[in-house]
Amino acid sequence: MSNKHVTIIGGGIVGLSTAYKLAQCCPSARVAVLEKEEKVCAHQSGHNSGVLHAGLYYKPGSLKARLAVSGIREMVAFCRQHDVPHEICGKLVVATDATEMSRLRSLHERGTQNGLEGLRVLNYDQMREIEPHVGGLAALRVPQEGIVDYAKVCEALQRQIQAAGGSVVLGAKVTALQLRGAEWRIGTTAGDYTADFVINCAGLHCDRISQLAGEKREVRIVPFRGEYYQIRPERQHLVRNLIYPVPDPQFPFLGVHFTRLIHGGIEAGPNAVLALAREGYRKTDVKLADLWDALTFLGLWRFLAKHRRMSWEELRRSFSKQLFCASLQRLVPDVRQADLAPGGAGVRAQAMSPDGDLVQDFCLLNRPRALHVLNAPSPAATAALAIGQEISNLVVREL
Ligand SMILES: Cc1cc2nc3c(=O)[nH]c(=O)nc-3n(C[C@H](O)[C@H](O)[C@H](O)COP(=O)(O)OP(=O)(O)OC[C@H]3O[C@@H](n4cnc5c(N)ncnc54)[C@H](O)[C@@H]3O)c2cc1C
Repeated sequence: MSNKHVTIIGGGIVGLSTAYKLAQCCPSARVAVLEKEEKVCAHQSGHNSGVLHAGLYYKPGSLKARLAVSGIREMVAFCRQHDVPHEICGKLVVATDATEMSRLRSLHERGTQNGLEGLRVLNYDQMREIEPHVGGLAALRVPQEGIVDYAKVCEALQRQIQAAGGSVVLGAKVTALQLRGAEWRIGTTAGDYTADFVINCAGLHCDRISQLAGEKREVRIVPFRGEYYQIRPERQHLVRNLIYPVPDPQFPFLGVHFTRLIHGGIEAGPNAVLALAREGYRKTDVKLADLWDALTFLGLWRFLAKHRRMSWEELRRSFSKQLFCASLQRLVPDVRQADLAPGGAGVRAQAMSPDGDLVQDFCLLNRPRALHVLNAPSPAATAALAIGQEISNLVVREL
């Protein structure tokens, strides 16, 4: 066992889970997390739907499928052990027309291939017993999915890292990375650090951090904002737990859905629109450097050309409550525009290739003395502990 210094850039759920797993696998390593904000969990990990995904959607054999299936078990066990609020309430994926019925059957097969147990296709009457206000033709019930407080997961991880002798340094934005011989020199806004190994878990900025470390930035992060509405308290009886549409296989996002929140309330969303700032949570947030980065990336133009109709419709729905509500009514016909109050938003870090394809799987780039997490979109919050274990297994060999 070594006492090498391992530095993790990014105090989101993936960076913290990685630090936690490394501290367990290699207790003599000196583990430090550098986070630019004044608290952990400030971006994607603290602005998401709070759902525990079981691995239904992902291509069998992919890293996503494998790590989502083991990840949800680990995440639930962690929550039990550390008293993090969570609940396994189950989910319905609802088909509303003939095309979706055939996709629903494929989803059932895929989930079974991925090792999910207890999946059941329900007819109209059966699904209405579970969700009395749901519309559509049939539904797939996924019993092991649930809801959780990911901010509390991050706080528990931070405590565990510190208890194991690791450190979480806040307000430390990494601005320079240089490999000098066998040692990394890390320049941050909170002073300089050195490390034997660097792990990049910088989420919305992971491509830029990889570039600072000398990598070519072929795949780029494109930020997609997801906006939510809240269902007004007097209408929350319309949804008991989680009601999702059948996703469009052309698009990696799941489609607007209903989510019960662990501390009460029902959210509807998120949609997926191009954000004009990587950490821009409002429509009006614009950061010129981020916009320039996106607009000068050929991949984005190719993506927009390939998905012209879908991109346009997402944009219209972002500005039209009526269209947003119409999407929700496919799942719950009784929901009305007046039931929807403005909610929060999150920004997804989605890696895109120069060909304009969205990178579907998790992407870990393993280099001598460095590992870069270049794509960790949903369900990476659910799968974070399994991702952390995967990274630790790769890194420990090199320490
Ligand atoms: C709208 C939305 C809904 C989602 N819903 C779900 C869901 O229900 N279930 C699920 O499993 N997943 C969901 N996801 C996905 C999930 O939230 C992410 O996959 C996960 O949070 C990624 O974690 P992360 O640690 O990689 O990124 P982040 O949480 O974004 O953390 C990265 C951290 O790196 C820091 N950082 C960046 N640059 C630097 C720098 N230069 N120096 C120091 N620190 C830096 C940032 O400040 C940030 O704290 C959702 C995501 C979104 C956006």
